[in-house]
Amino acid sequence: VAWDDTDRGLVLALLEERAETCSSCGHPTSVCRDHNTAGHWDVVEDTCEASRVAEAVMENNVKAEVKRRGLIVSTRFQP
Ligand SMILES: [Zn+2]
Repeated sequence: VAWDDTDRGLVLALLEERAETCSSCGHPTSVCRDHNTAGHWDVVEDTCEASRVAEAVMENNVKAEVKRRGLIVSTRFQP
């Protein structure tokens, strides 16, 4: 599949956006690293139920007498 100028433009825009996205908070670095924004941030807490159960399984494995080496967990939604 050949890439045209539109594809190249979209990829470059995506890479630019990723480079501009803070790896810590996910906001644009030009905003979150600006000290003038201090005092203007609210913390929003939420719970990912899928991550909650997955983390519990990982924690139990760490505490287990016989640990499952190489354990990887993922989640799937069951309606
Ligand atoms: Zn940040």
